Amino acid sequence: MPAPDRLRQIPSITSLLARGEIRSLLARYPRAVVLGAMRRLLDVYRGEALREKGSGRSREEWTSLLLSALPDAITADEGGSLRKVINATGIVVHTNLGRAPLPGDAIRAIVDVASGYSNLEFDLTGGTRSRRLAHVEEALLELTGAESVHVVNNNAAAVFLCLAALAKGRDVIVSRGELVEIGGSFRIPEILAASGANLVEVGTTNRTRQADYERAAGPSTALLLKVHRSNFHVTGFTEEVQTADLVVLGEKLGIPVMEDLGSGAIFDFGAAGIPGTPTVKQALGRGPGIVTVSGDKLLGGPQAGIIAGRKDLVEPLKTHPLSRALRLDKLCLAALAATLRLYADERRATACVPVLGMILEGEGITRARARKLIARVRREQARSAIRDGASPAEHRPASGIARPEGGGLKMQVERSFSSPGGGAMPEIEIPTACVALSHVRVRVEELDAMLRSGKPPVVGRISKGRLLLDMRTVRDEELPGLAAAVVTAARSRTTGND
Ligand SMILES: *Cc1c(COP(=O)(O)O)cnc(C)c1O
Repeated sequence: MPAPDRLRQIPSITSLLARGEIRSLLARYPRAVVLGAMRRLLDVYRGEALREKGSGRSREEWTSLLLSALPDAITADEGGSLRKVINATGIVVHTNLGRAPLPGDAIRAIVDVASGYSNLEFDLTGGTRSRRLAHVEEALLELTGAESVHVVNNNAAAVFLCLAALAKGRDVIVSRGELVEIGGSFRIPEILAASGANLVEVGTTNRTRQADYERAAGPSTALLLKVHRSNFHVTGFTEEVQTADLVVLGEKLGIPVMEDLGSGAIFDFGAAGIPGTPTVKQALGRGPGIVTVSGDKLLGGPQAGIIAGRKDLVEPLKTHPLSRALRLDKLCLAALAATLRLYADERRATACVPVLGMILEGEGITRARARKLIARVRREQARSAIRDGASPAEHRPASGIARPEGGGLKMQVERSFSSPGGGAMPEIEIPTACVALSHVRVRVEELDAMLRSGKPPVVGRISKGRLLLDMRTVRDEELPGLAAAVVTAARSRTTGND
């Protein structure tokens, strides 16, 4: 059947609305929710119909597929569009998937503060007004070794505030190799322009020398800005001025140095054998006047922008009018305070901050998790096969891998590499284990789409014709949900086709 004819087999909304099954759903759920779920399913089906080979499904088959999928699609929508997903990408700090999953302590702190009133800006001893940042200040001073700290809504806000407060109407010198874009909307030249500071570019894309900064500096220079390249790295014929050297120059010229670290850590990854990211304390030790970092990258806490540095530079930020517009909300503050408390003891931090645990987890543990997932999927398949009346022998869980069984689903443990993500250490690859999925009858893109729209949604990555589920970013407690999602994705297409 040609593609237009296959598309004509997809039922129309009007014809579906006339059916009793849909009318009974309309009696239970808002019309917009039912229609929205129907449209979304029909969109998926149109895509499938175009890719179908041979005669394709009939109108009756599409209709019964929709009627069986619709109740789940509606309840998924009822929970709103923002929902929990299983991150099987292996990218630990995944900006599109919400960055750092929070430590349990931070979650409890959020619930506690959110469910009632709190002493957010109230001194319980004196019964007087106090500052919200008092709840994190001491811990941050201790952990960063800074003279002074300030916290705002995120790191973009931190950079913006520093530039607006310290360099408005004046020059900020940045290397051409560091005029980066991060996360699709944070662009150094644009943030500078918006802050009212003038960007003075020096050097070239691959090489910038100290003399370049020196030549560009003058009476109107407010800052020498160093930006962590975060999501890319330059190799080959390159040269950049290290922060410590920039600090020497800054001291000679009387110009402060600011460093946007982005993914600054509190935990010393270098000491744990993962080089490339200094701790905030180490970064400050190189002498810049100001360092800015995100709260939800390698630090592993909530969204926040932390500014640490010299008193004379940081204190004026606190009373700047923009500080109020960029301030940290109370839930993030509660979570940040709880996360920072964990860092008081390094062992506690590595055990309780999920981002640290995932990055540091040994490859062997990820492999064991991959095996556990495969065994679970096989068990679930056997169970549902028995429910469906098939002979259990066909579906017996087997230790042999890569065997087409369980309705054609193939699963195999495969070595691959995870990445810390969040713009941290773009060149670091952490050995990991994935479950590689493929199916004898289902295209891997379709399997991927099914898993993404499942309950819970699962996000993996396609590589060489298989769907890889990286076990580094999957938690043990997510395995039952993940296994069920894999079974459902593999089945939802095979039924009706087999
Ligand atoms: C991530 C990053 C930012 C933006 O931080 P947000 O917390 O997402 O606002 C800015 N600069 C660098 C170098 C980064 O890596």
